[in-house]
Amino acid sequence: MSTVEWRSPASEMAVQQFDIAAAKLNLDANVAARLRRPERALIVSVPTRMDNGHVQVFTGFRVQHNDVLGPFKGGIRYHPEVNLGEVSALAMWMTWKCSLVGLPLGGGKGGVACDPATLSRHELQSMTRRYTAEILNFIGPDVDVPAPDMGTNEQVMAWIMDTYSQHKGHAVAEIVTGKPVSIGGTLGRREATGRGLVYTIIEAAKHINMDLSKCTAVVQGFGNVGSVAVKELAHIGVKIIGVSDRTGGFYDAKGLPVDKLLEVADKNHSLEGCPYGEKITNEELLELKCDVLVPAALEMQITRINAARIQCRILAEGANGPTTPEADIILRDKGVFVIPDVLANAGGVVVSYFEWVQDLQNFFWTEDEVNHKLRDILMKAFLQVLDMSRKQDVDMRLAALMIGINRVATAMLWRGLYA
Ligand code: NAD
Repeated sequence: MSTVEWRSPASEMAVQQFDIAAAKLNLDANVAARLRRPERALIVSVPTRMDNGHVQVFTGFRVQHNDVLGPFKGGIRYHPEVNLGEVSALAMWMTWKCSLVGLPLGGGKGGVACDPATLSRHELQSMTRRYTAEILNFIGPDVDVPAPDMGTNEQVMAWIMDTYSQHKGHAVAEIVTGKPVSIGGTLGRREATGRGLVYTIIEAAKHINMDLSKCTAVVQGFGNVGSVAVKELAHIGVKIIGVSDRTGGFYDAKGLPVDKLLEVADKNHSLEGCPYGEKITNEELLELKCDVLVPAALEMQITRINAARIQCRILAEGANGPTTPEADIILRDKGVFVIPDVLANAGGVVVSYFEWVQDLQNFFWTEDEVNHKLRDILMKAFLQVLDMSRKQDVDMRLAALMIGINRVATAMLWRGLYA
C-alpha cells in the first residue's frame, strides 16, 4: 500500500510483513507490486437517524484486496478507530489466511467508524441497513461475502442478509456468513474462531512438549474470539489466570472462575464490575507470566516497547495483527513460540466457508461434521507451516505468510495480467 490513500500504521505493518515474505520467496516483482495494495476500495457515507431525531453521518468502508483464488471474503468491523488503512491491512491478511488454509476465496474487509456500545438497537439496525444499501452493488454471493468481526455479531449479519434480500426480492442466505442458524447460518460458526485457536494451541503444545493440563493462560479481549478461547482452554484443563476487555483486566494466580466470567459478560456485555480476581490494566495483563498468551482484541498490542517483557511460552494470535514486525524479532530471540494470526484465527473463515457452501447447496451439516472438518484443515495447515519453518529456517509467521503468498502469486502468474 505504497500510496498515501491506504496509509496507516496497520497497513504499513501489513506491507512490511508482505515485503519480508516476498523477499524470502524471491517473488516476481510485477506480482509483488500488485499484491502490495488492494484491488479496489469503497468509502461510503452512512446517514443514520438517531433516536433523538438527528441524522448522524458515519463513514463506512469495504476493501477488496485480491480475488485470484475466489470471491473476496472478510469481516465487517464496527469500532471508533476504523479507517481505510486499517481495513486495507485486514483485507490483505484475509488474502493470505484464505490461501494458507486452502480455501477458494480471496481477501476483503469492511467496517464503519462508530462505537457500537453507545448505539441503541434501533440506531445500530438503521446504520447497518444503510451501510449495506451503500455497498450493495459492491458485494454479492459470487463476488464478496462479508462476515462478523470486532463489534459485529450474528444479529448484524441477519440485518445485512435481510437488507440484501429485500433488494433482490428473495432470501439470499449466502450473501453473508456468521448468520443465526435459523436463517441459514451453520452450526459451530459462533465458536469457530476460538475453537480453531485452541486446536492450534494443542498442536503447538505437542510440538514443544508442553502438558496443557498443567498450564496457565492469559486472554486479552472477551468477545467472540476471546470468550470462546477461554471456555475451550478451561475445558481442556488450562488454568485461566488473566482476562480483559476494553474496560480493563482481571488477574488471579489461582485461576479465575470461567463459568462466572462468561455469565457476567453475557449479562453486562462487558467484564466491567466483575467481582473476581485483582483489577489490572490491559498493559499489565499482556506482561503476566503464563504459558499461553492469547491477544484477542485489537492489532499492534505487542510492540518493540513491551515485547521484551512478554513472559509466555506460546503466543496464540486470536486477533489480527496483534504483534508488530519489530516485536516478532524480540519474541523470536526470547524463544516464544508464535502461532501467527493467519493460522491461529483462521477457524473463523474456515467455518464461514463451510456456511457459504451449505447455503449454496441448501444442504446442512451436523456440528460434529463442521468441527471435524475444521480440525482437519487447521491441523494440516499447522503442519505445513511448521514444515516450512524448519526447511527454510524461518519463524512460524514468515513460514505461514510464505505459503499463503506463494499460492496467490502462483495463481496470478497462471491467470496473467488482463489487458
Ligand atoms: P468482539 O467485538 O466480539 O470482541 C472484542 C473484544 O475485545 C471485546 O471484549 C472488547 O471489549 C475487547 N477490546 C476492545 N478494545 C480493547 C482494548 N483496547 N483492550 C482490550 N480489549 C479490548 O470481536 P471479536 O470478533 O472477538 O474479534 C477480536 C479480534 O479477533 C479482532 O482482531 C478480529 O479481527 C479477530 N478475529 C475475529 C474473528 C471472528 O470470527 N469474529 C475471526 C478472525 C479474527
